[in-house]
This record gives sequence, C-alpha cells and structure tokens, in this order.
Amino acid sequence: MSEPRPGNAAAGKKATTGAYTPADVSAVARRKRSYTIRLWSIRHSRMLEWFYDKFSNIFLMLHPLWKAIGYSRVEWPIKAVEKRVKGLMFDCRMCGQCVLSSTGMSCPMNCPKQLRNGPCGGVRANGNCEVEPDMPCVWVKAWEGSRNMVHGDRIMNVQKPVDQALRETSAWLRVTALAAAEREALESKDA
Ligand code: SF4
Repeated sequence: MSEPRPGNAAAGKKATTGAYTPADVSAVARRKRSYTIRLWSIRHSRMLEWFYDKFSNIFLMLHPLWKAIGYSRVEWPIKAVEKRVKGLMFDCRMCGQCVLSSTGMSCPMNCPKQLRNGPCGGVRANGNCEVEPDMPCVWVKAWEGSRNMVHGDRIMNVQKPVDQALRETSAWLRVTALAAAEREALESKDA
C-alpha cells in the first residue's frame, strides 16, 4: 500500500471532519486578491460616482436597443461583464440590487453579516470588524467613501432587505429598466 502524500493531509483531515468549503471560494484568498482594489474604489468614490452617473445615462439611452433585443436576452452577457467589472473593483457578490452609490462605493455584501443599513454593534475600537478582526468594518469604509461623494448623504437612506430572488441578476439592467419605465410613465402623464 502506498504512503499518503503530504499534500493530501489537509484534504484528508477535512474529509474526516466533513467541513464544507465551496470549491472555488476562499474568503481569505479572495480578500487578499481584491482588497487593495476595493480600498482604491472607496478612496476614489467621487470619481466613480461621476463615472456611474454618465454610465447609467448611456445605459438608459440604450433602452430602445435593450428593449428591441429583449431584456431577458441581454441579461446573460451584461451580467457576465457586470460581474467581472464589479467583482474586480468592489468585490461584488452580485446581489442584483446595487447600493454602492449610497454606501460610499463600499459593497455592504462584504460585511460578514451582510448588513445593509450600517454597522452592527460589534465594531472594534480600531474600526475593524468583530468577525474578521484584520478587516476594517465595511461600514466604516462606507462612511469614509460617502464623505467624498456629491450625494454622499444617501448613506442615510434606509435600504430594503436583500431580495434573494434577484441574486445573480444584472443590477445595471434592472436600474435601467426601472428608470425607463418611470420616464415613460411621466411622459404619458404629461401627454
Ligand atoms: S451592493 Fe450588490 S450589486 Fe452592488 S457591489 Fe455589492 S453585491 Fe454587487
């Protein structure tokens, strides 16, 4: 019988305990990879706010195109791009109901408790998270980011609970469709 290879020791131990870790998700590795960029985005929240404003206007201008193709048909490719871009910049978890514009460009889904309306009562004296002591509280960073933004006071808005049915859908398209519907409702009222 062959000797167990040292590299398999951890896997063997894990198999014994039955602990479950999703195959492609390591919170620590993911954090290391994206954390620097995440902080950059928060530091540059004002520029990103300006950029998103222009970007969402262009998306809204393209509403007739999305409508002609069909929102459900463009969902997949747009979602793929959104996931890549926001994953890189904000460590986005694709909740499908983006609130970055109201949270200083700090994604609240990176809070281990996924709180959407401010920090829990466990923020450490140094501003770090009580669950992940090495990580600054997502909401402390959100407050810092919001102070740089033109509409930073939106951080005071009360956010709805996460609608799990919207997970893994494109927030960009959803916001566009809602804005287009609002605009059309206004136009038909004025007509
Ligand atoms: S709020 Fe949701 S959509 Fe926005 S960056 Fe965070 S996980 Fe992604």
